[in-house]
Formats: sequence, C-alpha cells, structure tokens
Amino acid sequence: MSFFENSLHNPPKHRAKIIIFALVLFAFFNLSGPQASISQGIYKNKTDCQCVVFRLDDIQDNFLNRSQLAVMNLFLEKNQSLTLALILNALGNDTTVLNKVRFGYELGNFELASHGWNHENFSKLNEQDQVDLLRKANEKMHRIFGVYSTIFIPPLYEFNNSTLDAARQVGINVFSSLDKYYEHRNQSGLITHGIHSDPVHGENILHFPTTLQYSYFDGARWNTYSVQQSLQSIHESISSYGYAVVTLHPQGFVNLLNNNLTNSVNSTQIKNLAEIIDSINSENIHTTSFYKLGGINNKSMGEANNLSTDTNHKMVPNQ
Ligand SMILES: [Zn+2]
Repeated sequence: MSFFENSLHNPPKHRAKIIIFALVLFAFFNLSGPQASISQGIYKNKTDCQCVVFRLDDIQDNFLNRSQLAVMNLFLEKNQSLTLALILNALGNDTTVLNKVRFGYELGNFELASHGWNHENFSKLNEQDQVDLLRKANEKMHRIFGVYSTIFIPPLYEFNNSTLDAARQVGINVFSSLDKYYEHRNQSGLITHGIHSDPVHGENILHFPTTLQYSYFDGARWNTYSVQQSLQSIHESISSYGYAVVTLHPQGFVNLLNNNLTNSVNSTQIKNLAEIIDSINSENIHTTSFYKLGGINNKSMGEANNLSTDTNHKMVPNQ
C-alpha cells in the first residue's frame, strides 16, 4: 500500500458518501466561480494571501539559546509574526528562552506549535504511541504557557498516515512538514493552497509545508541560502501556493569554530534575515501565522478540541 493512500482513511461503507460529497462540491464550485478547484477541497483562490510564515524550529532549553533569542528578538523588534516549533520535553527550565517565548506569545507575535516530545521520528512509531506523544507534548505546552496548539511540525519532517490519524484524534489540524516530502511521494496535491473556508467544522488537516529551508545541514555542516536566493524561493513559492513557509534553525545563526556550532550569534546571518524581512515587506508581502493562513480562529479551536479526551475519530476524505 502506498504512502498516504487515500483509501486507508476511507473504508468501503464511507466511499459512497464521499463520492456524493465530492459531487456536491463539484456542483458548488461550478456555480460559484471558474477558478475554484475541487482538488484541494474548499479553499478560496490562492492569491488571497501574499504572505510568508517564518518558522523557528527546535526551541528548547540551553541549546544555542543566544541564537534562539536573537532570532526571536529580531521578529519582535520588527513587529513580525514568527511560529515557534517547541520540543516540549526539552523545554521548561531555561528561563531566558521561556520568558522570551511567553513574552512574544502574549504580545501576539509568536505562534506556538508542537515539535514533538523528544524530537521523535513519528513515522517509526505506531499510531497509539504517536497519539500518546502528541498528547503529552500538548499537555506540557499547556502547563508552561497555558495554551494548547493544534499545529504539529513533524520532527525531521517525517510522518505517515498513522500520524495523520493520531493527529485527528488529538484535534491537530495543521501540519507543516517539507514541500519535497510530498513531491517525492507524488502527494503534492495534499499541499493546501490559501485559506480553508470552514476549518472548524471540517476535520481536514491543512498541510502548509516548508518551502524554503533557510539553513540546512548537508551532512557535514550547516549552510544558509543567500538573501537573493531566499527571496527568489519565496517569490516562486508564493506564485505556486499563494504563500511561502521559511524554516529557520538556531544552528543557522551561530558562529562556527572548527566547523562546530558555538553559542555565539553570527551577526551577519541575523542582518541577512533582517534584509529578507525588509525586502518582502517593501513589496507588500506580509508575515503571518499558520492559523491566519488557514483561516483558523485559534481561540475557538483551542476550546473546541478537547485534547485530552477526544475519541470521536471520524473517517473523512483526505484533501
Ligand atoms: Zn527539528
């Protein structure tokens, strides 16, 4: 059975309903406008959002924390949106990081997302273990910051069908992996374009993958794209999907010593990131959060999903 195969979620007794649902959707879109497409479900035209989600991964205690703080401070100084991928079992003691995350979250600039319990490869775990880890991570987030998140950022970009099922069980409705992860599996059609018009009642998962890994590990060392390369990638992504997701890592903003990471901030890298933000802002491309990109009211989502006890797991058509 191939990865992501839709029939995994659609046992035979549900298929007739799904076909009828699809036909109704098709009729609706034929009446409502020529640009609507059935392939992505109920989404508005992708040109709605000329926007970029910046994602800072691997937020945790005592790990290159000067770099974590420098990136967070840049987004605060520029009053821009930043999504933080929290490794929950590794977070809770480093007050410099905790206070900054809390400050930015309460100000409304930072969006919080789960990045697993111990940065696990979820695709290697069974569904129940995945449910348990997603739940544990979110409960820890609630203990520290008083909020649950319905956004999951799979560690190592890895996930599978069981992860999607596990996510639905705990009320997660946004995934951010990597665009190439879908391309390599011929599943680019799952990537969500623009805004979902009915995210509260739908149980679909919105897929907003990274479209630019600003810094990346090539097996030997961390590399970072230039400002020009990054801007080109952002523009290409916006023309393909209506948005771009730029993933940042603390490892990309530190000085190296003999090719080893040090906890000292590389000011050139911070300056380059600032230049990227200024450049897109000057073109009226704005930074945003996954919730805004998906048209999700995070307050109501947080309350609507009982993350501890939800067992009402319905089979729904994959988008
Ligand atoms: Zn990570």
